[in-house]
Amino acid sequence: MDVCHKCGNPQIIIKRKQSGQMLCQECFINTVQEKVLKDIRKQKLVEKGDKVLVALSGGKDSVMLLDILNNLRKRKIIDLVAVTIDEGICGYREDGVEIAAQNAELIGVKHRIVSFKDYVGHTLDEIMEDTGDRIACTYCGVFRRWIFNQVAREEGATKIATGHNLDDEAQSILMNYMEGNIQNLTRIGVKSESSYEGFTVKIKPLREIPERETALYVVARDLPVHLAGCPYAGDSFRAKIRDFLKDISQDHPTIMYSTLRGFDKIKPVLKEEFSRKATTGVCAECGEPAAGKLCKACSFRSQWKKE
Ligand SMILES: [Zn+2]
Ligand SMILES: [Zn+2]
Repeated sequence: MDVCHKCGNPQIIIKRKQSGQMLCQECFINTVQEKVLKDIRKQKLVEKGDKVLVALSGGKDSVMLLDILNNLRKRKIIDLVAVTIDEGICGYREDGVEIAAQNAELIGVKHRIVSFKDYVGHTLDEIMEDTGDRIACTYCGVFRRWIFNQVAREEGATKIATGHNLDDEAQSILMNYMEGNIQNLTRIGVKSESSYEGFTVKIKPLREIPERETALYVVARDLPVHLAGCPYAGDSFRAKIRDFLKDISQDHPTIMYSTLRGFDKIKPVLKEEFSRKATTGVCAECGEPAAGKLCKACSFRSQWKKE
């Protein structure tokens, strides 16, 4: 009979394909929490006294992230502020915002909702009417990073934590590799740093947790989550890579871990060889770090102004 490898409980909720380990609900929750907290210590993702901005979309990954980081908040090691970006995606984002608010309220953490409309001047839906949805994810990603960076400064946050999981990270590595974006590749990692003072360090505490375990975690913890996928994400290159990795993981259950491990080994060499000199300039428009005269977000915005 299958029983929990930790406590012997016959009611198991997961059999880990990569290790064969079987766990009951309680032991699964404990094991995942301990793993994430151990990774945070090992990688020095936070320091005592940090104020961490949690990018809270209301989806399973960010909800899990908030729940686990709250352990450190309860022990008074860090302070938290949850921030949800309303991109203005009609019929999709409203539910996510509502669920994000519920999660923040559940643990008594300050929650801010900031919108594309307020910060960028247009909703994502409006932007897509003009540009077509093929590059929706590019625009969205640039503006989201830009907004989080500004809100982090407004809130006095010292770190920005995002819910990227193992699958997300393996996808990013593979995508950038296959597209030959070696510069982008040098920026992937558990912690992003820059010597520029206006830049807030970004951390990915869930980087070692497979997506199926983030989904199971929120169910096991009975947390409210927004399950719908973004309507603009449908046929993206990322979606194709995701399907490919899922497929190959069936017969090679550790493939995403080895993708990550291999990448982490070659990254120092890549950085040495390919990363641009640290950005020291500031955007003439908004004051954010910029490689040229304008940051990416402002150069997108300036295109609309001309039209
Ligand atoms: Zn157990
Ligand atoms: Zn700018």
